[in-house]
Amino acid sequence: MRPRDLLHTRPEGLCCPPGGFHIDPVRAVDRALITHGHSDHARPGHRKVLATRQTLDIMALRYGEGFAGETQAIEYGKAIDLNGVRVVFHPAGHVLGSAQIAVEQGGLRIVASGDYKRQTDPTCAPFEPVTCDVFITEATFGLPVFRHPDAGGEIARLLKSAEQFPERSHLVGAYALGKAQRVMRLLRDAGYDKPIYIHGALTRISEYYQSKGIDLGQLEAGTVENARKADFAGAIVVGPPSAFQDRWARRFPDPVSCFASGWMRIRQRAKQGGVELPLIISDHSDWDELTDTIIETGASEVWVTHGREEALVRWCELNGIAAQPLHLIGYEDEGD
Ligand SMILES: [Zn+2]
Repeated sequence: MRPRDLLHTRPEGLCCPPGGFHIDPVRAVDRALITHGHSDHARPGHRKVLATRQTLDIMALRYGEGFAGETQAIEYGKAIDLNGVRVVFHPAGHVLGSAQIAVEQGGLRIVASGDYKRQTDPTCAPFEPVTCDVFITEATFGLPVFRHPDAGGEIARLLKSAEQFPERSHLVGAYALGKAQRVMRLLRDAGYDKPIYIHGALTRISEYYQSKGIDLGQLEAGTVENARKADFAGAIVVGPPSAFQDRWARRFPDPVSCFASGWMRIRQRAKQGGVELPLIISDHSDWDELTDTIIETGASEVWVTHGREEALVRWCELNGIAAQPLHLIGYEDEGD
């Protein structure tokens, strides 16, 4: 069997014809296997959805209970047979519940990684390398310039700034699913025990993380009506990046604008966004994580999805690994 007979791209997404399913389809399909809850991968309207329990829960929180005709939860490491195709979900280390999907038939194994990272993240299960023939990798930060520092060090910079400017509030822009909770958990790991104020858009997902045993400490609404500016002096406030342009952000005293993202490696990008304290914290692999992982899987062929495909394809070729870009459309990750 040729790899492209087992999995190939179609306008609706990555398709497995023998198994009768799609992985992270961007259009409604009969049966979808979903790697994780970010909205560009997990869309509503499929007839059947197979995903981890957490991903299903997160989809229900975001889209309502009726987001799919039928749902089926699958545990990490448990094989399921779909029309003679063996499917196993493995942890991807990206956000809570995130998975790589291994698809196998006739001795050929392809692993679709979804989004993934190798850096330690206390809010989700660590990435598990899976030996395979073809590895499908993302390339959000697929350029050698992207090297993410240790996230704990970035949090230490945030805490130092909060100490230096006790009269100012620190507004941390972080994507609502995954990044925000990771930032909060890292603050706790660094010994920060004051309440953390959160934008309303983070409430339900953060409560869900807490219900799954990820202790985020005391969280308080950063959207209380009639609160006085002075109440937030010295506070750390976490909200989705989009909220920083609106009235909500102006209720805080002389805020220090922070943004937690892998893109903060690019100074120009931080400057343009008016970010005073860029925090390089990413839920995606950096260049070294991408290339190390490709080697670790032992794959003789690599397919590169959304991101900066060309450099990674070139790197594979230079290292004797066949590679091609997949040109998947519709993935612009909210979780970087
Ligand atoms: Zn993602």
